Amino acid sequence: MTQMEYRFLGRSGLKVSVLSLGGWITYGGTTGNDVAYQCLKAAYDAGVNFFDNAEGYAAGESEKVFGDAIKHFGWKRSDLVISTKIYWGGDGPNDKGLSRKHIIEGTNASLKRLQMDYVDLIFAHRPDAYTPMEEVVRAFNHIIDTGKAFYWGTSEWSAEQIQDAHRVAEKLGLIGPLMEQVEYSILKRERFEKEYDQLYKKHGLGTTIFSPLAGGFLTGKYNDGIPEGSRVALAKGDKNLQWLVDMVNGTEGKWRIEKARALVPVAERLGATLGQLALAWALKNKNVSTIITGASKPEQFTENLKALEIQHKLTPEILKEIDDIVGN
Ligand code: NDP
Repeated sequence: MTQMEYRFLGRSGLKVSVLSLGGWITYGGTTGNDVAYQCLKAAYDAGVNFFDNAEGYAAGESEKVFGDAIKHFGWKRSDLVISTKIYWGGDGPNDKGLSRKHIIEGTNASLKRLQMDYVDLIFAHRPDAYTPMEEVVRAFNHIIDTGKAFYWGTSEWSAEQIQDAHRVAEKLGLIGPLMEQVEYSILKRERFEKEYDQLYKKHGLGTTIFSPLAGGFLTGKYNDGIPEGSRVALAKGDKNLQWLVDMVNGTEGKWRIEKARALVPVAERLGATLGQLALAWALKNKNVSTIITGASKPEQFTENLKALEIQHKLTPEILKEIDDIVGN
């Protein structure tokens, strides 16, 4: 059995499994509950302790599936690191964004769906241009002070916005964001590697990176068209996910497929699948605290787990070869 590795979440004392699992699109959405349970169990059995969610995933259904599964398997709460993210709560004027009202009400509703008294991590799922930073910082500190979460963080905020949150928190004698949930993969590197670079040392920023397989492109599954049962195939006809279908058929999709095809021989030489290579590549970066993977079948997670072994085969020469192929 591949040995799980644990890393500190930034400068905190919290340890997270370096591979973790999230519920976006899949659990409570495209994937039946029995299969979702199998995926969660495959991850848990492999040593995953961190599971990621959001109030907006499948309009709250994803949180329900996680909560039910944890109860069903009888997993000990203290063995788990659970997160949720607040921003997209619903359609009403106060159901969206980072007002104090929505942060507090949204968190309470998430906890109810998860059937938990607290989450370990709570994220501001996006920046909110309309709510003053002081209101956001105070509200997340309130969530922590009332025991509803242990740490707060951001997702897809600019480095400047994260710095601003720290400045405001410091001025108020409050806690700034510990971690950022940002997209990072072989195909998307700029923000994580360059823009945030200043934040790792200065603030001890932890990172829970998402879409390490670029939503599946970096498994090569779209190299020969859209496979049946894939998220893009299932997205057809769903107006909320139509952008996925458009992306595959557009310039971005074509670019991703071209790069995925070019990377296949590198993976083959290492005796790895393309997905394992992509995950192993992200594991090499020590500013990554945990890689949130997605899986719509338990076998996908089991295959991806082997990335922990493949990372040791990635020499500086191979990393350079990947840089040259992708050209980013
Ligand atoms: P990935 O890039 O890892 O894509 C996961 C998808 O790739 C799976 O659903 C599956 O697609 C495919 N896949 C995975 N493993 C394999 C395999 N071995 N063989 C073939 N196909 C495979 O991550 P996601 O984009 O799903 O994001 C992961 C998590 O990150 C989310 O669940 C969420 O928790 C978080 N996230 C956060 C965001 C944010 O804004 N903060 C945004 C997006 C994600 P298929 O189901 O089609 O088979």
